[in-house]
Amino acid sequence: MAAVSRMAAAGEPRGPRPAARIVLVTLGGVRRQETFSAEGVANIPHLAGDLLPQSLFYSQTWNEGVTSHFNTISSILTGVWQHVDDWGRQPPAHPTLFQYVQEQLGASPAETWVVTSNKALTANIGPGANVILSKQLLVEAVERIIKGYSKRQRLDRDMLLEELTTVMQDDYERIGWNVAAPSAILNPETKQAFLTALGNFIHGPEGPTSGDELTCFVAQEVLRRVSPSLLVVNFSDMEVAHSGVYSLHLAGIRKADRLVHRLWQFLQTLPEYKDRTTMVIMSEFGRDPDGSSTNGFFNHRGNTEATRCTWMMVLGQAVRQPAVIERPVRQVDVAPTLGALLGVKCHESQGGHLSEIAV
Ligand SMILES: [Zn+2]
Repeated sequence: MAAVSRMAAAGEPRGPRPAARIVLVTLGGVRRQETFSAEGVANIPHLAGDLLPQSLFYSQTWNEGVTSHFNTISSILTGVWQHVDDWGRQPPAHPTLFQYVQEQLGASPAETWVVTSNKALTANIGPGANVILSKQLLVEAVERIIKGYSKRQRLDRDMLLEELTTVMQDDYERIGWNVAAPSAILNPETKQAFLTALGNFIHGPEGPTSGDELTCFVAQEVLRRVSPSLLVVNFSDMEVAHSGVYSLHLAGIRKADRLVHRLWQFLQTLPEYKDRTTMVIMSEFGRDPDGSSTNGFFNHRGNTEATRCTWMMVLGQAVRQPAVIERPVRQVDVAPTLGALLGVKCHESQGGHLSEIAV
């Protein structure tokens, strides 16, 4: 079964695989007050109840860079505060963890994947890596299905388009809409397999109910079919905050809480990942404080603690001893720490190694 489901192309050059597997989940902007705080904990029952007791939890994780989505994720992945285009039109100015893995381990691009809900996270993030903007993949899947529907009832088509419209409407970073961000799946056979799986998902009882549900589904498909050493997943339904509806922002946080737990449980069912995977869950930044001139939770532009100080949870293999670490750490510490787990040195990184994380 493993041989059948494994989609890395035969004959593709492939260096020795690291023993460790890394799944890095970035969430859009969530403040500590809506999550790990006395009043916020009700929004994150899985993170706080199921996962926190088995984790290394860094309660003060600082973003000292540009608090835009692309710059932040680039900073996390390079270990250097990035000041490139906010909308992903330029690649990071330093090597990413993807590049270190490919260059130092001679790994194939099949080892490094990104699945994202946010189209600001373009293929520029990972030169040589596979990047799936899940909504774009959905569009392609739907186009393919619609072609196949031509002789069937019109009603089916309308329902499908309605579902698609719902998913596509949760586009919260309105500026930057015209950034070209096609999915960059390097192996065409792999791409076909995902399109087929998505077609089945669209027809299934659950249906794509949100961008992050879809992203979670695609991430699970990547894990099951490709088994990369390094997978980055980005959830961003909470970014509905930009539209100013607080209840929807909270719903996005609750959804992320469910999905990270689902992803963690899914990893435990995969022999390729169980007992050798370290999963990191972190938000990109907080959001602006209530009463601020930038409309509080709407945005993430302020130079304030609410915007810059967030949290990070580490689960799995690299956790020696569950603990809450209150020492301030920086997001640029993540790349060199995860690099060490994979056996690569992020030599251009500004960050340090988080000493609690076992190598
Ligand atoms: Zn945003």
